[in-house]
Amino acid sequence: MIQKNTILSKLGYLQYRPLQEEAIDALCLGQDVLLAAPTGGGKSLVYQSAGLIREGVGIIISPLIALMSQQVEELREKGINAHFLNANLQPSEHDDLVWALRNNHIDLLFLSPEKLVQPSVMSFLDSMSISLFAIDEAHCITQWGGSFRPEYGQLGQLRQRFPDVPIIALTGTVDETTIRVIQTSLEMTNSLVLKGSFDRKNIEIQIAQKRKSKLQVLYFLHNEMAGESGIIYCRSRKKTEQLANWLNQLGLPSLAYHAAMSDRDRQLSHKRFSTEKGLIMVATTAYGMGIDIAYIRFVVHVDLPDSPEAYFQEIGRAGRDGKPAKALLLYGLQDMLNAQQFSAFQDHEDGDKSARLSAFFKVIEGRGCRRKNLLNHFGEASDNCGHCDRCLHPSSEQNTTIASQKLLSLIYHTKGIRPFSVLIQVLLGKRTKGVSAIQGERLSLFGKGKELNEAQWKAVIRHLIAFNYIEVHQAQVFCVHLKEKARSVLKSQAQILLAQEKYYPTLDSEESIK
Ligand code: ADP
Ligand code: ZN
Repeated sequence: MIQKNTILSKLGYLQYRPLQEEAIDALCLGQDVLLAAPTGGGKSLVYQSAGLIREGVGIIISPLIALMSQQVEELREKGINAHFLNANLQPSEHDDLVWALRNNHIDLLFLSPEKLVQPSVMSFLDSMSISLFAIDEAHCITQWGGSFRPEYGQLGQLRQRFPDVPIIALTGTVDETTIRVIQTSLEMTNSLVLKGSFDRKNIEIQIAQKRKSKLQVLYFLHNEMAGESGIIYCRSRKKTEQLANWLNQLGLPSLAYHAAMSDRDRQLSHKRFSTEKGLIMVATTAYGMGIDIAYIRFVVHVDLPDSPEAYFQEIGRAGRDGKPAKALLLYGLQDMLNAQQFSAFQDHEDGDKSARLSAFFKVIEGRGCRRKNLLNHFGEASDNCGHCDRCLHPSSEQNTTIASQKLLSLIYHTKGIRPFSVLIQVLLGKRTKGVSAIQGERLSLFGKGKELNEAQWKAVIRHLIAFNYIEVHQAQVFCVHLKEKARSVLKSQAQILLAQEKYYPTLDSEESIK
């Protein structure tokens, strides 16, 4: 016990968080642990401490080279003998490290999965006294999520090869399926599973409808976050560059980051962002894993993330210092359709994409507190948070059951092959080209939906998609199917309640910030 606290203060902390302590105790008893806690949840302290408390060298496997070197440096400053075994070592450095390992001079050894599974490295470890194996970013074992690393699949051999060494797998997702896949792949059948909370109380969540999104972003940067550091996430590479250029022209210092940039340019971008305050990073999700910059105050999404997990991870890069931070997500019906099309396309490789996206639609289209909806997705109960857009500006809800019935019957009568824009024009009684092309004026519902405006109709459609009343297929041609659930609405057995439609404000003109 004394030793545990000695290590704690050596690492520079006053006390363990409850979850950390539980994980460390289990490891010290030789038990395997699966620790699922969001980014910023304090996972590193667990394997660092347990690795130092137990006899032998702690082996830490991580896919992120940059993060490993950073952590090694920080640990050394605290007087911990941490080393990073990698291909860039000079032969003499490599020999020194091997010598030090053989003589038990090393506390913690960091290496990539690719390095670890090399037969020479494995057999070297056979001869060593090892305190634990920590497998960071363990979800890289799974095929989905875009961070798949094949060598992770070979880590299953550790359990049998080193029967007396406890393994801790760490991941930022608490998704049950992912956790099961990690357990099976690593053969950690008797592991203690610990889940951290996903409640990042200091992040104020705002989710709003998109309209002239660039000017909405400007409003946010100007009125809510002037001079602060933050990330704006976009889906396409081109868009990151265009938006960053545009912001720069307006005098808002911005950087771009995406996978098509050269390694060097990406590193430069990250380096500047992580050393200079007050910059805006406009990035694709390629700017992701392991960003630990204390002063990031905001994260804006101008395109939809593809799962609640991705959204949570991305907004979680703000406010890592615990001070107030903001997350703004702007989207609309078209974004939902685009995201769906994109994930249906990707489903060929990864059958889970569409399900994750649907779960995210439910989070953003759900009624009531934003944080509650998000936490509920992660299986966490929560009260109203008091500082999301819904809690701060409660508005009356609207019963749109009858409107939904009109829309559903219109979809039925037009065989599901007409775009939503034309259906809305029919309901509003507009004689547009699109409407006359389908002889919409002759439909009995023509002009019968004037109780809602266009934005409200779009909200109805978004809700019907998110809660599985209708399903959109866009593979070859656009096609909407009524699902079983739609029947209950058509028969008035189910009510559809919608929150009032809210657009995020725009800055009147880009001139006003110059
Ligand atoms: P993760 O690896 O889960 O993303 P980190 O290990 O990087 O999280 O920890 C996130 C932040 O929390 C770091 O700044 C770390 O210093 C801090 N932290 C972790 N554990 C404690 C603790 N027991 N007390 C105070 N701060 C902590
Ligand atoms: Zn709330």
